[in-house]
Amino acid sequence: MLLEGKVAIVTGAASARGIGRATARTLADHGAQVVILDLDADTAHEAAQSLGSAHLGLGANVADEAAVADAVDAAMARFGRIDVLVNNAGITQPVKTLDIRRADYDRILDVNLRGTLICSQAVIPHMIAGGSGSIVCISSVSAQRGGGIFGGPHYSAAKAGVLGLAKAMAREFGPQQVRVNSIAPGLISTDITAGKLSDAQEAEIRSGIPLARLGRADDVANAVLFLASDLSSYLTGVTLDVNGGMLI
Ligand code: NAD
Repeated sequence: MLLEGKVAIVTGAASARGIGRATARTLADHGAQVVILDLDADTAHEAAQSLGSAHLGLGANVADEAAVADAVDAAMARFGRIDVLVNNAGITQPVKTLDIRRADYDRILDVNLRGTLICSQAVIPHMIAGGSGSIVCISSVSAQRGGGIFGGPHYSAAKAGVLGLAKAMAREFGPQQVRVNSIAPGLISTDITAGKLSDAQEAEIRSGIPLARLGRADDVANAVLFLASDLSSYLTGVTLDVNGGMLI
């Protein structure tokens, strides 16, 4: 059990087919007590219960500082420690540069980038008090290759910001044994992608992926497990590309 006795918060883990839910399940399977944080409290609660009664589901918008602070307080009240944070909640919007409106930009940056900062700010003091911690930030291949199929340029910018923020936090909190790493998934089959690709589009995408398939949520979850656990105890500030070789 890689995470026996550890408490992990996973944001955006209510969606049944999403990367967050697969991650929550994987961390729970390896012994962690998991806190699922998502927009709707009832859905988050149901998602947590689907993992077993030891887990907690809480409603909070990751871009809302007060709501995140309340959720972290509730997690501390229940479990008394936080060892792992997975900054997974994210939204995208397929739009071209000249069509991005200010409200779109703010929404995409708020959830993907500010949300990562707010959740990290809320848990880091508890990790420091506990003597160590691991934060895993979910970025995207869109940050590295300048866009993707589903994300607009503001999404690429937000996810590139996540990589920079994670590295800066890794440098700042390394001395307190809080590690911060990122994962840049390629195209993963989830609700973000479901039903949105024609067979021809999917075949074209597959032809650009050496492993010749789209990713699965579990492919990302397993990488999160590695970064969350002591298996990666000497890694901080790195980005793992979980993309089937798309960027080779
Ligand atoms: P998803 O849409 O299936 O799940 C996203 C979850 O985040 C949902 O449960 C949603 O309710 C929650 N959420 C959205 N906004 C929130 C907010 N403000 N506060 C709290 N929760 C919120 O998405 P997914 O495909 O599982 O993606 C998960 C992460 O992986 C995202 O950060 C996404 O950008 C990233 N990513 C996905 C892919 C892909 O191909 N699916 C590729 C690269 C990166």
